[in-house]
Parts: sequence; C-alpha cells; structure tokens
Amino acid sequence: MKYYKQGELHCYIGIWLPFVILISIFVFLYGVYMKTYLLPLIRSEYIQRPIVELNTYLIQLVHINDYVFSNQTLVITISLHTILILYIISLIRVVVIEPGKVPQEWLNKKEGEINKMIENEEKMIHFNKKGSQTSTSFCSEIDDEQRQKLNNKARLELIQRTGRRYCKNCQTLKPKRCHHCRYCKTCWLKMDHHCQWLNNCIGYNNYKLFINLLGYSWLLLSFIMITYSRCYYDTLNSYASDGKLFLVSFTFLFCCFLWILLTAFTIFHLWAIKKNITTLEYCENKPKELIQNSIVDNFTEVFGVNPLIWFLPIQPNTKPIMD
Ligand SMILES: [Zn+2]
Ligand SMILES: [Zn+2]
Repeated sequence: MKYYKQGELHCYIGIWLPFVILISIFVFLYGVYMKTYLLPLIRSEYIQRPIVELNTYLIQLVHINDYVFSNQTLVITISLHTILILYIISLIRVVVIEPGKVPQEWLNKKEGEINKMIENEEKMIHFNKKGSQTSTSFCSEIDDEQRQKLNNKARLELIQRTGRRYCKNCQTLKPKRCHHCRYCKTCWLKMDHHCQWLNNCIGYNNYKLFINLLGYSWLLLSFIMITYSRCYYDTLNSYASDGKLFLVSFTFLFCCFLWILLTAFTIFHLWAIKKNITTLEYCENKPKELIQNSIVDNFTEVFGVNPLIWFLPIQPNTKPIMD
C-alpha cells in the first residue's frame, strides 16, 4: 500500500479488485485447459500405456530430438509452461517496479537555475528602484509571509516564461513527458497510463516490461486458442455431458474474445512505440515536443540496444529524456 491511506479496507479491496479479476481469469483458463485437455492427453499418452510401450518411450528418451519432435503432448506441455513462467515473471515485475520518479539531482539543478534567475531579477528591480521612497515603504510594510507569496508568484511566472513544466500538485518542476498521476499522487517519468488492472502506473521504468507482458499474454492466449480448438471440436462432435460442453465452449469462445481485445491493445502499443508517443500524449492529442526519430531509434528507446533482452522480462539500461 504505497499510494493510498492505510487502514481504509474498502479502498484497499477496490484498488486490488481488477488485479484479482485479471489473475482469476488466467487461473480459470489455465485450470479448464489443464483439466479438460492437457491432463487427459498426458494421461492417455503416458500413464495409461502398457508397460511394453512405456519401455519403448524410455528408449526414445535417449534420442531426445526424435522424441521431442515426434511427441506433440510434450511439446505442448513445455511450450505452454515456458510462456506461462515468462508471463508470471513479467506480471510480477510490472506490478512491483516503480514507473520512475524525477531524479533529485535533476530537481536540485533546475531549482538552482530558477532561484538564480529570480535572484538576478530581484537585483535588477532593486537597482531600478534604488532610492525610491515608494519601494522602501512598500518593502517595510509587507511581512515574511506576504513576501513568500510574492516570491512564489514571481517564481511561477518565471517558470512559465522559461517554458519549463511545473506540477502544481507536487509543487516541483518536471521534465518533458513527465506526468502527474492522480491515483499514485506522484509525477512519473514518461508516464504512459495508470493501469487499474495492475494497480500501478506504466512509465519509463516498467514500460518495456509492460510490452513484454502484453506479448506473453497474447502468445499464451494464441497458444491456448489454437491447441484448445481441437478439444472444442472433439467435444462438439462427441456425446459429452451438457456441463462439459458448456465449460469447453465457454472457455474457447471467451479465449477468442480476450484474444481479439488483446490483439487490438498490443497493436496500439506497437504503433505508439513506432510513433514515439505515450498513451497519455495520444489521449490529450498534444503536439509532440520531441524530435522525430527513426522507427529503429523509437524501438530501441523502449527495448534497448541489446537484442538478447528484447523478448525477456528484463528492463533495458537506457537513460530517460531529461530536459
Ligand atoms: Zn506531480
Ligand atoms: Zn498511477
């Protein structure tokens, strides 16, 4: 509970509910898939075979290549669980990794620059009004609190004049593409959006992991959909009970529905990476301040330059645009 008031149980349940629903959907799909398709397949393939045939299988194990490529059940089991493990790792990482706060060094540097500019302006005003009776009486009349207010006003005006971005909620400067999240109550670097399903913001530090998560989810659903279509077809053409028929049909069609949604969402994010635009920037329809890079540059800005980690749930060591 890093962002919300402690002790508010309804709030706690509310913010984690979409995440629990998301996990439940995948647990349900996995459970039904295993129960109605893969486990019966494994049982018929290995457990219910006569001992003589099992010996033949053990001999085949020695020639592992022949065995793997000739054994569909084993390939399905290994592939499914490999994608599932990658999916779980990226899911955990996206949820726990902070999207990226504005570095304190950057804030100190920019605050110092603004303070120096204010100091110079004050010196100029003081120089111009030197000797003026009005100025002296005005200064002596205002107390420290009023002076602070006037300083803050001057400061905001100066920040606006210099074109710097300022967060009124955090009362600090913020770099380009940094946005304030009203749920997290924090400014995040290159904030993409606040994901209610994951109860975390997606920003500079976890965007690549989020894309990996989308990729693994898409792969997992595609894999389940393709392999399960056989089970769906067999169940439709068999004398299965109404309960099983409903369960298999519902699971398969629900999987197809999720796949369509996820495909559209993944295509949008790949398009956004290609265009170097975040979801927030797209929704706000703001003219982009960034220099237009090539498509390769846009992709390496998100995925990093090392191709070995592009498809793994690892965040690349890139530097955010800080200006
Ligand atoms: Zn803020
Ligand atoms: Zn947020």
